[in-house]
Amino acid sequence: MTAPTKEIRFAFLDIGLGDCTVITWDDRHHSSHTPTPRCIVVDGGKTIAASRRLAQYLIAEKVKKIDLLVVTHIDWDHLGGIEQLFKRTDTRNGSLKSPYNKLADIPVTTYWGPLPQRPGAAGHSSMSAAMNAASYASEFKAYVTSVQQNQDLLAALAGRVDEFVFPAMDALPELDLFRNLELDFLAPAVQRFSDEYSRFTPSRFQTLSIDQPIESLTMQDLNDALAALAEDRAKQASTSANNQSIVFSVTPKGLFSEHRDKRLLLTGDAEKKSWEDMNELAAGRLRARFFKVPHHGASSGLGPGWNKVHPHLSVLSVGQAGYGHPHIEVLEKLSPMSTRIHCTEQNQKKSKNPGDWGDGHGGAGGYCKASGTDCPKRTKDSWGHLIVTLSDGSSEETYTQAGDDCPIDW
Ligand SMILES: [Zn+2]
Ligand SMILES: [Zn+2]
Repeated sequence: MTAPTKEIRFAFLDIGLGDCTVITWDDRHHSSHTPTPRCIVVDGGKTIAASRRLAQYLIAEKVKKIDLLVVTHIDWDHLGGIEQLFKRTDTRNGSLKSPYNKLADIPVTTYWGPLPQRPGAAGHSSMSAAMNAASYASEFKAYVTSVQQNQDLLAALAGRVDEFVFPAMDALPELDLFRNLELDFLAPAVQRFSDEYSRFTPSRFQTLSIDQPIESLTMQDLNDALAALAEDRAKQASTSANNQSIVFSVTPKGLFSEHRDKRLLLTGDAEKKSWEDMNELAAGRLRARFFKVPHHGASSGLGPGWNKVHPHLSVLSVGQAGYGHPHIEVLEKLSPMSTRIHCTEQNQKKSKNPGDWGDGHGGAGGYCKASGTDCPKRTKDSWGHLIVTLSDGSSEETYTQAGDDCPIDW
C-alpha cells in the first residue's frame, strides 16, 4: 500500500478588507498514516465575517494547533479578525455557535507580532486619554483602537501561546521551527514599534502653523488646524506601522523538496522604508515564486527593489470598501513578470481611481489573470480566495479558486 500524497497548501483567503494567509501541510513521518496538520496563520482580516472565514478554513483543514501565528503589524485590517477569532473561541457562556466553538481551545505554539509597550513608556490608559483628546481625528482614533485591540488580542492569547516574539532583523526569532518548511526573516530591520506609538499621541502643545493673523482666527479655524495636525500625525503613524510589517518567506524542504525553488514571500503592508531596509539587509533573498503583494495593491506597496522578487504568482488581498485598491500602476508593474495575478475581490464599489481593474466587472469576483474571467461558480457571497497546492512526488503546483472544487463548505 502506498502512502497517501502529502501536500502543502498556501491559501490566500478572501476576507474582505485586509490580509489573511494560511499555510497548512502534512508533516507525518513516512511510516505513519495519521496526518499531522501543521499550520501557519498570517493575519486575519478586519471583521467578524473575516474571522468566520478563517475559522471555517482552519476547520476544513483539520487544524488542531496553530504552530506559528503572525500578526504582521498593528493595523486593524490585519489583527482584527485574529482578535475576533480568539475572542469568539471563549466558550465560557456555552452559547457560541459553530465554527468558533470547534476552535475554542486551539493552542498556538509561537506568536510573532506587536507586543505591548516596554515598561516605563506611556501606557494603555494614556492612549485612551489621547483618543478622547483627539476626537476630531478619525484616522488617529482608528490607530489608537488598533493599539487597544492588540492589547486585547495579547490578553486573549495569554495562556494559549507558548512563546511571544516581536521579531526584527536586529532581534531575530527562532527560524528553525519546521522539518519541511524553511523560514527566512526579512523585515522589519529594527524593533521600533513599541517605542514609536507613544510618540503619535497628539498634543495640544504641538506647534500649529496657521497662515493668518491671530486676531482674525475663529474657533473653527483653530479646530480645523488641530484636525489637520492630527490627520497628519495619524498618517505618519499609519505609515510607520506599515513599515513595521513583519516580512518573511517560506520555502518547502524535506518531504516537499521537489518544490524547494518555490518560495512564498509574505509582506504585510510593507512600504518604501521597509523595501529600502530589505534592499540593504536582504537583497539577495527577495526572489519568490509566490508573492503576497504588499499593502493590498496600493502604489506605496511596491517600494524600491521590489522587482527583485520577480514573482510568478502575485496575490492582491483587497476588499470592496473603498481605497481604490488595487492601483492600476501596481497591476501594470506586476503584469510583465507575473503569469498569474489574483485579486481576492474584483468589484470596487467605491473606487477612487476610475482606471482600476475593479471597475465595470459587476459581481464580486476573484479575478484570475490566467483564465481572464471571474470564477463562474461564484455567487455574490462567495469570496475569491486562492489556494496553491504543492504535492510530494510531483513538481507541479495546482491552483484552486473559491467555487471551483473548493474544499470549503461555505
Ligand atoms: Zn493592510
Ligand atoms: Zn497597514
